Formats: sequence, C-alpha cells, structure tokens
Amino acid sequence: MDQPIATDAHAEIRAEVAKLCARFPGAYWRRLDRERAYPTEFVQALTEAGYLAALVPEEYGGAGLPLSAAAAILETIHAEGCNGAACHAQMYIMGTILRHGSPQQKQQYLSKIATGELRLQAFGVTEPTSGTDTTSLRTFAKRDGDRYVVNGQKVWTSRAEHSDLMLLLARTTPRDQVKRRTDGLSTFIVDMRASVGNGMTIRPLRTMMNHNSTEIFFDNLSVPAGNLVGEEGKGFRYILDGMNAERLLISAECIGDARWFLKKATDYARDRVVFGRPIGQNQGIQFPLARAYAQMRAAELMIREGCAKFEAGLTPGEEANMAKLLGADASWAAAEACLQTHGGFGFAEEYDVERKFRETRLYQVAPISTNLILSYIAEHVLGLPRSY
Ligand SMILES: Cc1cc2nc3c(=O)[nH]c(=O)nc-3n(C[C@H](O)[C@H](O)[C@H](O)COP(=O)(O)OP(=O)(O)OC[C@H]3O[C@@H](n4cnc5c(N)ncnc54)[C@H](O)[C@@H]3O)c2cc1C
Repeated sequence: MDQPIATDAHAEIRAEVAKLCARFPGAYWRRLDRERAYPTEFVQALTEAGYLAALVPEEYGGAGLPLSAAAAILETIHAEGCNGAACHAQMYIMGTILRHGSPQQKQQYLSKIATGELRLQAFGVTEPTSGTDTTSLRTFAKRDGDRYVVNGQKVWTSRAEHSDLMLLLARTTPRDQVKRRTDGLSTFIVDMRASVGNGMTIRPLRTMMNHNSTEIFFDNLSVPAGNLVGEEGKGFRYILDGMNAERLLISAECIGDARWFLKKATDYARDRVVFGRPIGQNQGIQFPLARAYAQMRAAELMIREGCAKFEAGLTPGEEANMAKLLGADASWAAAEACLQTHGGFGFAEEYDVERKFRETRLYQVAPISTNLILSYIAEHVLGLPRSY
C-alpha cells in the first residue's frame, strides 16, 4: 500500500521529503498542538531544502518543477504525519505574482521568496460578512496619489503572524459602480513588516486544530501603488486563475492524510488482539478501511489528471474541483475509519490520530467548502442553472 507506484515520476522527491519529515515526529507536532505554536523549524527545513520554491521558475532561483512535483511534496509531508498547512500557501500564492506581476515585482519578490528571505504565507481573501460570496467583500483600497489607503477587515488569514508578505484582495471600485460584480476588485502585495502597527492589526484566532489563523483589521493602511498586482479592477480574475493549482495541491495533502490514516489503522488492526484474534480480521473493521483506500486511489487519479492538464497549459477546472471533493472525502473517510479502528486509543493524544482527525476535517470547509464544489460541478460541468 505504501510503495510508490512504478510510474511515479517523483519517487525521488518523495523519498527525500520523507527523510526530512522523519526529523519531525509525532512528539514535535503534539507539542506544537498543545502550545498552539508555529512549526518554525519544520518550515525552515523545507525552505532550506528548496521545497517551498518548487514552483518558482529557475530564473528567479526556484526549482522550476511542475505542479505534480509540488503535489508529491505536499502529499508526502502529510503521509509522513506532518502538516503542510503551515506553509503550503506560499507554493500557490506566488503564482499570482508570477502570472500577473510586473517584471520588477517578480525580480523583487520571487527571488527572495525562493531563498527564504521573504515569506509569502498570508492570503487575505475571506471576510466575516461576505464568506464564500467573495465579490461582496467590503475591504476597500482607495487610490490616493502614489498609494492606496486600505480600510476593512479580513478573517481566517492563516499564518499572518509568520509571513513577511500578504496577497490581499480588496475592492477598488464600489460594487454598484461596476458592470459585473467580479469587476472592481484588485490584488496587492502588502509588506506586513511595515504594516503591523501602522494601520494593520493582527489578532490570532484559536481553532479546533493548530492552524495559526488570524483576523486582520485595516485602518487607513497605506500601500504603495507599485504594490498593485497587474491591472486595477482585475484582481478577482487573478485569484481565480490560481485556484485550480491550489485545489490540486490541497487535494494532494488529503491523499497524504488518507495514506497516513490507513497505514496507522491497518498496522493497529493487525496487532490489536480482542476476543483472541486481531481486530483486522473482522470485516466490520476491514471494510471501512478498504472503502477509504479505494476512495483515496480514485482521488489520486483525479489529481494526476488535473496536474497533467495544468502542465499541458490547459485549464483543469473540472478536475481540480473534483479532486478536491474526492480527496477531502477520502481523507475524512480514512480518518473516521482510523479513529474507529483504534477504539478508545483513537482519542489518546499520544497516538496522533485525534490530532490528524481534527486537522483533516478542515478540508470539507476550506479553502473551499464541499457544497460550493458541488455547485461548481452542477453549473459548469453539468450545465444546470446557477443556484446562488
Ligand atoms: C482554519 C481555516 C483557515 C483558513 N485560511 C484562510 C486563508 O488563509 N485565507 C482566506 O482568505 N480564507 C481562509 N479560510 C476561509 C475559508 O476559505 C472559508 O471558511 C470557506 O471558504 C467558507 O467560507 P465561510 O467560512 O465564510 O462560510 P460561509 O460562506 O458562511 O458558508 C457557510 C456554510 O454554508 C454553505 N453555503 C454557503 N453558500 C452556499 C450555497 N450557495 N449553496 C450551498 N451551500 C452554501 C457553505 O458550503 C458552508 O458550509 C480559512 C478557514 C479556516 C476555517
């Protein structure tokens, strides 16, 4: 089950990432979970090994690897019991600068992101009042000479306290003055080091798992006009452009989680003897694990299909959304089966099952909730009327 398949083009990367992860065992993550602390050493190790710059082109000092390689990195991190949520955003956020940034922005930021000098971990999209309805967001950036003045609030901005830069989506033209509600939104690179205390306030949000998420308040924050990415008013499209890559990568994390749960559960089910026989001999234990494995493999194929399309320059909207749906369902099915297989011990911290169980639940909600993916498939794939 745990052997990489023969045709895996990234077997070497997986082996190297697994070696790195072995330096960060369950005890490391349990301590962070208790303290709600950030895995600084883990992120540093990934940065030094160049994994977080996997998708940055070589001309900016990155590895210039294909999306499938980045997926293999994140999958392995999760399959080894670690958590890529501490740093995965850097992999896909930088794509917005790469695709839509000016040559100067690319030079200025991408090369420093590649060396680890700058961390681009914060992605400010979600707001408390708009939720999934992104185009209703209220944070406003008003042009004032050679700067923008930003006012508003974001919520669930993860890793903000551990990032130097934030990619911010804000409205630059009021919604009632644009033809389409997707117009009039703009994307900015915000230097958080200069902003905190000067119009930006970050407040940590405690959650059911250790995710280092925050809410951010903007009170007349000044952002240089040169930090606008691409054209004013087209920011929503730029963010959408990056979503397929994001969904495929997050789905790869789900596959990693599913692998971890299935290995943990099957090892335990073989060893644990109750009524004079291993519990894994009971079909009541076997079947949920077998089903979760099949779900995981199906999701894995969808990721591969999505990555292949992406790497061929096509738009894998259908595949990326289905991969995220199938991946999140597979990891959740595996988590549930693993916890049940462990009986009472599934609730004990030292087994790591309850921690991973809490962590993997998130994928049903973020970065996009399952309902919204189903709506996407219904509308854009099946041609049904838009429901919202
Ligand atoms: C731990 C964590 C980390 C996050 N990190 C980030 C981050 O770094 N940056 C960022 O910008 N955001 C982040 N998010 C936000 C995340 O993307 C949103 O929580 C998610 O998109 C759902 O939005 P919402 O919470 O506002 O839910 P709502 O939009 O309020 O939805 C609530 C529920 O209603 C359902 N629903 C809403 N509309 C419909 C509809 N039309 N049809 C059917 N069902 C519907 C949703 O599926 C959901 O189940 C994070 C969230 C969490 C919990």
